[in-house]
Amino acid sequence: MNFQKIREQDLLQFKEIVGEEYVLVDLSSLEPYSHDYTEDLSFFPEVALKPANAKEIAAILLYCDTNNIAVTPRGAGTGLSGGALAVYGGVILSTERLNKIISIDERNFQAIVEPGVINERLQEAVKEKGLFYPPDPASKGSCFLGGNIAHSSGGPRALKYGTTRDYVLNLEVVLVNGEIIMTGANTLKYSTGYNLTHLMIGSEGTLGIVTKIILKLIPTPKNTLLLLAPFASPEKACEAVNGIFLAGCNPSACEFVEPDGFRLSAALLQMTFDIPEEVKAYLLIEVDGNHFDQMMKECETISEVLYTHQAIDVLFAETANQKEYFWKLRRGIGEATKHNNTYKEEDTVVPRAELPILFHGVKEISKRYGFRTVCYGHAGDGNLHVNILKDELSDEFWNNELNTAIIEIFELCKQLNGTISGEHGIGLVQQKYMKVVMPETNLALMRAIKFAFDPKGILNPGKIFTKES
Ligand SMILES: Cc1cc2nc3c(=O)[nH]c(=O)nc-3n(C[C@H](O)[C@H](O)[C@H](O)COP(=O)(O)OP(=O)(O)OC[C@H]3O[C@@H](n4cnc5c(N)ncnc54)[C@H](O)[C@@H]3O)c2cc1C
Repeated sequence: MNFQKIREQDLLQFKEIVGEEYVLVDLSSLEPYSHDYTEDLSFFPEVALKPANAKEIAAILLYCDTNNIAVTPRGAGTGLSGGALAVYGGVILSTERLNKIISIDERNFQAIVEPGVINERLQEAVKEKGLFYPPDPASKGSCFLGGNIAHSSGGPRALKYGTTRDYVLNLEVVLVNGEIIMTGANTLKYSTGYNLTHLMIGSEGTLGIVTKIILKLIPTPKNTLLLLAPFASPEKACEAVNGIFLAGCNPSACEFVEPDGFRLSAALLQMTFDIPEEVKAYLLIEVDGNHFDQMMKECETISEVLYTHQAIDVLFAETANQKEYFWKLRRGIGEATKHNNTYKEEDTVVPRAELPILFHGVKEISKRYGFRTVCYGHAGDGNLHVNILKDELSDEFWNNELNTAIIEIFELCKQLNGTISGEHGIGLVQQKYMKVVMPETNLALMRAIKFAFDPKGILNPGKIFTKES
């Protein structure tokens, strides 16, 4: 793909649109926009623009489309598939100044927000009004709602409440030709032709820029209970996950963690967490609701299931502080893994009952190829984050041979009727594996959609589809 390099005249035009102070060109200002949380990748844009509203974004897109300049939309840069990286240089279009919670409509259980609002800020704002916005990626303290929509992000509570997709009613989107559209209606139901709202969700900034979001809210559950269960066998822990549902329970979260995950997180966060030698996996399970007695009964049933699957113990977090302690440790794993080692994270997902086979297969493949993995994730959703650590492996192995092992892992996902990403998206780093799970017919349909929205391909080029396609 050949894009126009940024010229002096382009910078003048951008300054005209967003104001001089919001056009960044020097290397130190561009550095924060040169990477996200994906591995150790770095791509510098030629310019970063910080527009204030949809109108400015429309003017930027129209100008870039006319002049064939690549545009990479960006939220908080916490993405794990390289979606926000400017692989072709050009413009980084940051949404950080579109950070207003426009309204919270208690009567209709809706919130209208801009895409640069941090997930946790919205959660707290609606909680003050007795309302609940469930999607809670472990990065909730920093990721933006616009980024969440671009990936249909999940998090622990997706298990009971669904992912971001399930809470988006309507979107304002700026198209590449500068038109600003609403994708649907602010309604709980929608059966009015193709659903453009859902098409935008998960499209990773390749179809348009989301500038306003209408979200569904629900009543807040009054209580939560949290259990932590250590296991000597990780496969038994994985089997217990499905057992919980077979026993008729409906937890709000069910997370699987290998001991190294907690170990790394505790070290980074300087928290004390003793892990006995015999422990090879943990399940962290949350139950929520309004009726405490009922919740306690559910926890008793879950405990029975856990012991039936050979849990070593079942610990209750009794206070709010203890609950936060365990959640903090869990949320810290991603950051801690990145801090500790060069790594690649695979976002494997399979139907829940197949999780033990996936886990076993991942370990067998990693043993055969000779690399170490730390696995954790949203086990209740069948979503296992496989972190492959570089340790002392050669660059040759890391850059070439490892690819074959990753394909084997993804082929296993496919055999189990799963796929290569549950919530982190395809972005830059997973595009080469799309063909493992996606027939050419499906890819051709996706490409046709992409080019219907963005005929010149200037929006987030190099993402989802391979360079050749
Ligand atoms: C420690 C850690 C824990 C995480 N835990 C989870 C988790 O539990 N669950 C989960 O799902 N993810 C998780 N993630 C991944 C990441 O936080 C999410 O993918 C998040 O939604 C990305 O949001 P962002 O604002 O950082 O987006 P960015 O990384 O900036 O961008 C992501 C994609 O969104 C596009 N984009 C951003 N804004 C817009 C917009 N307004 N319009 C159109 N496209 C846009 C970008 O072009 C890019 O393709 C985690 C990441 C980290 C670092």
